[in-house]
Amino acid sequence: MSRSRLHGTSAGKASAFDFLDRNATALGELSDALFYFAEPSLEEHQSSALLAELLEEEGFVVERGISGFPTGFMAVRGEGGPVIALHAEYDACPQNSQRPGVLHREEMVEGAPGHCEGHNGNGAVMVAAAIAVKRAMDEGHVQGTLKVFGAPAEELTLSRPYFVRDGYFDDVDAAFHNHIGAEFSTEYGLAQISALSADFEFAGTSAHAGISPWEGCDALDAVVLMDAGIAQYREHMKPQMRAHRVITNGGEQPNVIPNRASAWWCFRDPTASGVREVFERAKRIGQGAAMMTDTELTIRLRSAVWPVRCNETLARLLQSNMDIVGMPAWTEEEQAFAKSLQETIGKPSIGLNAEINPLRGPRFEPLAASNDCGDISWKVPMGRVWWPGTVPGTVFHHWSGGVPLTTSITHRGALAGAKVLAGAVIDCMGDPAVVEDAQRTFRKEIADTQYEPLVPASHRPDIATHRGLTAKYGPLQEPFYRTTKPVFS
Ligand SMILES: [Zn+2]
Repeated sequence: MSRSRLHGTSAGKASAFDFLDRNATALGELSDALFYFAEPSLEEHQSSALLAELLEEEGFVVERGISGFPTGFMAVRGEGGPVIALHAEYDACPQNSQRPGVLHREEMVEGAPGHCEGHNGNGAVMVAAAIAVKRAMDEGHVQGTLKVFGAPAEELTLSRPYFVRDGYFDDVDAAFHNHIGAEFSTEYGLAQISALSADFEFAGTSAHAGISPWEGCDALDAVVLMDAGIAQYREHMKPQMRAHRVITNGGEQPNVIPNRASAWWCFRDPTASGVREVFERAKRIGQGAAMMTDTELTIRLRSAVWPVRCNETLARLLQSNMDIVGMPAWTEEEQAFAKSLQETIGKPSIGLNAEINPLRGPRFEPLAASNDCGDISWKVPMGRVWWPGTVPGTVFHHWSGGVPLTTSITHRGALAGAKVLAGAVIDCMGDPAVVEDAQRTFRKEIADTQYEPLVPASHRPDIATHRGLTAKYGPLQEPFYRTTKPVFS
């Protein structure tokens, strides 16, 4: 970016942008390091350790293991108001191992987790932006408190409601989230929907399936009947309600009638009350299945999040910073790579987006995906930037989503995203009127909605969900780890 385009922005922002330009390599290396750790939800031990360590080395005071999440952290720097929070995820997904930079499906480790959504970049962007703001604070350009939250297990929509419930956001004035995308964009209004997930465990009686099946009560039958019941209910769901599941236990071998079987269900709706409605219906369907099979049902809540909403003031602020930063000027090689990838996966060969998106107001329908940052967005004004680090047409959680993630497309998109994030935080710290306006529009936006966490006050997360994946694949993934630690100078 040329100097002249910085005209009119504060000295703090100029300092932060210069810092990020100078440290573009470290930012890319950090994103790559997380990519190759490829740690699934709740197993982000090395990813969170690296992010927290970089912040600690920079002088942030780090509290690890917040809200009972071993891979969560809060890093704080500065004092007094305003209190601005950054939060992001860094988890990979099961079965998503993909060699980056190639134009075909190729696992690095067969069956292993991997990054096919770009959360490696989200974590890196957050930390790079935080360090850039901290340097601007050190230089006396702006003041306040910066709280950086490492949020585990976004892919299980898990951790941030607990952070909110446990009071970590009580003193926060404004919060920012970042996420990779194919576009450079921001928005306000309802953006993503509410989600709740729970285990439905049925207990019955084993018996020999050939000799005396009448002695058994088949727990797997209950799982199947509940599945059929939800399938019938689908016709009567409202358009954006969702129900999806995996069978987590279907028995051990067919000649033993399973005395235990379970399914892990996830329900969604645009509102927190709607998701409660689907859950209550599913509970009754599950109880019906238990009654039909003479089994007993135990329901165990895994996670529950509010929809994601974005604040108008902070969206406008992010947009104004996007206008300053601009879309990366993609090279011919980057465009050619993007087009080849699009061709390979049967999508229109349109290359990378050349322009930033105009500000998006409230969507007619929010995206039928969820993010556990939803709860934060009802507690304090929250803004989110989607930074352009992936190729249009590629699909999250599909191998094509993993292909660009260590290329210059992700690296340069991440740099642009970090600048926007740092710029917006500096704007908040530099002018009290910005935060006051965000608070004012936030109160108007949420109106009479009473935020109550969907997770009960006594609920504790199950942090062992993916422990088996790490035990199985961790040693096989280790040879791919990057050996140089990123250095921000
Ligand atoms: Zn994501």
